[in-house]
Amino acid sequence: MKKIYLNIVILFLFGMAQMTLSGDNPSQQGLKNEVIKILDQKYQLLTNISDSVWEYAEIALLEHESAKLLVEHLKKDGFTVEQGIADLPTAFMASYGSGKPIIGILAEYDALPGLSQDNTPFKKVLVEGGSGHGCGHNLFASGSLGAALAIKEVMEKHKLKGTIRLYGCPAEEDVGGKLYMAREGLFDDLDVCIAWHPDYETKVDVKGSQAIDDLEIEFSGKASHAAFDPWKGVSALDAVEMTVFGINQLREHVRPSVRMHYVITHGGKVPNIVPDYGKLWLWVRDSTREGVKIVVERVEKIVQGVALATGTAHKIHYKGSYHEMLVNLTGSRIMHKNLEMIGPIIYTKEELAYAKRIQKESDTKEVGLVCEIKELEEPSKDPEGGSTDVAEVSWIVPTLYLSATCAPYGIPWHSWAVVASSRHAIGHKGLLLAAKVMATTGIDFLLDEEVLTEMKKEFKEKLKGYKYKSGIPPGQKPPLRVKNSS
Ligand SMILES: [Zn+2]
Repeated sequence: MKKIYLNIVILFLFGMAQMTLSGDNPSQQGLKNEVIKILDQKYQLLTNISDSVWEYAEIALLEHESAKLLVEHLKKDGFTVEQGIADLPTAFMASYGSGKPIIGILAEYDALPGLSQDNTPFKKVLVEGGSGHGCGHNLFASGSLGAALAIKEVMEKHKLKGTIRLYGCPAEEDVGGKLYMAREGLFDDLDVCIAWHPDYETKVDVKGSQAIDDLEIEFSGKASHAAFDPWKGVSALDAVEMTVFGINQLREHVRPSVRMHYVITHGGKVPNIVPDYGKLWLWVRDSTREGVKIVVERVEKIVQGVALATGTAHKIHYKGSYHEMLVNLTGSRIMHKNLEMIGPIIYTKEELAYAKRIQKESDTKEVGLVCEIKELEEPSKDPEGGSTDVAEVSWIVPTLYLSATCAPYGIPWHSWAVVASSRHAIGHKGLLLAAKVMATTGIDFLLDEEVLTEMKKEFKEKLKGYKYKSGIPPGQKPPLRVKNSS
């Protein structure tokens, strides 16, 4: 009896020792498997959160309900949350844990005006004149939340050292919330930052993004009767038109990578009054911030010349300015390995049919969904057209960017077709994949100091001594927007 008893005790102690080894010191892969499992279990919750944000469809700076929902879940899960940061009422920063490393994850949740769309594979307006998630930021929000919650859960369970921080970043489609958050220094203490975006391809994105300057050009003139005494008038509309002409003449003499696009927001009220006020809203983009600066200086000269020629007064309001993305290949390789380990999304026949119907309805080739994982590309010297405020963060801390398939291949972005994909399983599956890739990559950074050091080394080399400088004029606050209740 005694011997049996002794054997049981030995076995029990051995078992305890095993548990301690595998429980408190699990392998890196073991922890990755855990976050993947947690995320599979949270799939329904994350889908529900994403669908709620889709339904709120709140445009830039008005994302109150969306931010509230995310914050509620973070608080419930033990995160400390600061809201209304950087003078942005719908921004927040949620942290769990303490000390280094500090891993940041970005979340966006603003919708686009005029893109209201039902959950159907054909165009069907849900709310006349309403907004919609034409960039899939509802998925972005929930996927990033999922990654933060999963990392936190394993940190707590295994008492891992470090901090996980989720940034609620409003108004990506408008003023660029991260621009203000970056100026405030909110990303300064991070060791790494991870972000993603819905796409129609799955890859770790190292292509980069364009730098951009966002400006408003105003002209003031003098009103008069356009037929009775037009000689007494000074037309601000003339000035706007001449500026547009000047920009279009300039177009031939800029580098091919430059993009200039504008809208005339004010050009007078009625034809029989010489317009005394005119406004042009202009975006200038290029592959580098330096390139943008060269073009903007020439635009400034055009504006000065036009003001002189028309006798108007002019004012240029510099609304915002993004850097180009600073790609970090070391970190991107780590993320790519995790993406490959998790593997591509698998779709059902119904999901593929839904995708093809969207393609048919939007005059896009009916190729369905592209789920295979693209190889890590070489960073492009001249990235394709498009800018993001994530790029601001990339000049402060090594930043990694994932694209996950959430929509049918080739459909026009910022359109009804993306809204229709973002409340469907094809979007939901993309958010889950993104959450898993971000969470497993976060685990790598929590456990592997060497990787962090390597990544920082590349970052420092690429900075070439440059210290991040915000492109918004000092003291400029983000505009406050109030929801129109009518
Ligand atoms: Zn977007």
